[in-house]
Amino acid sequence: MSKPQPHKARKRFGQNFLHDVGIIRRIVACIAPKEGQRIVEIGPGKGALTEGIISATKRMDVVELDRDLIPILRVNLFRYPDLTVHEADAMKFDFSTLATEGNIRVVGNLPYNISTPLIFHLLSYAEKIDDMHFMLQKEVVVRLAARPGDSLYGRLSVMAQYYCQVESLFIVGPESFDPPPKVDSAIVRMTPHKTRPFVAQDLKTLEDMVRIGFHQRRKTLRNNYKGVLNDADFEALGIDPSLRPERLDVEDFVNIANLVSQKD
Ligand code: SAM
Repeated sequence: MSKPQPHKARKRFGQNFLHDVGIIRRIVACIAPKEGQRIVEIGPGKGALTEGIISATKRMDVVELDRDLIPILRVNLFRYPDLTVHEADAMKFDFSTLATEGNIRVVGNLPYNISTPLIFHLLSYAEKIDDMHFMLQKEVVVRLAARPGDSLYGRLSVMAQYYCQVESLFIVGPESFDPPPKVDSAIVRMTPHKTRPFVAQDLKTLEDMVRIGFHQRRKTLRNNYKGVLNDADFEALGIDPSLRPERLDVEDFVNIANLVSQKD
């Protein structure tokens, strides 16, 4: 195997490599990998998290977009013949192809520039995923875990909590990375509901209704849903139309979506 070239972190791939061994151990302890589990890592980079996981599971799939990192990863993890590297864009990757023998677990210190659309992409595979552990910009973790009434409660919170139980685990400072990002990071655990407490008849309608609901956060529901819901609809739903969208919980949004689906 020829010696890989030194790698300079690439901003466009959101590369901030973890080097803090204590933090890496804490993340792996939260994941608690077990032999035989099928764990998929998004953006393994040079393998900072990968080794702690594959040393327990013995096999692993990783999805990495930067082809220049792959020789470095292979050298760093040469001891593990059952590491499967997918040179691919995780945003377009079909994760169901890895869930052929049962559900997968997903982990990653995600590229922050695409973390929100990437989470939306993964949520579409929620039924095939047992759990997800991610390092994200702290603000994104706060949004994911926010409850009705919290200042950062919004579209991301509702959609994530429709599919998953969301737990914010711990904060990681910029000094744990090379190069250090400008913001704090945090670890989140997202566990897809085995049975969903509320079921939307049509997911696209739910997504649309959540987007419309939060279109203007400072406006009332009556205003945001003008032309979609009238006062009689709000009464039937038991929702006060003079409230702001941040007061609604996941069940309210599901009820709105189901009423709209019935009307269509
Ligand atoms: N896991 C490594 C670590 O913790 O040191 C690297 C984390 S770094 C924040 C993000 C990683 O995601 C990089 O390796 C980057 O090349 C990779 N990446 C960026 N965009 C990607 C994409 N669309 N699909 C897959 N990997 C991607």
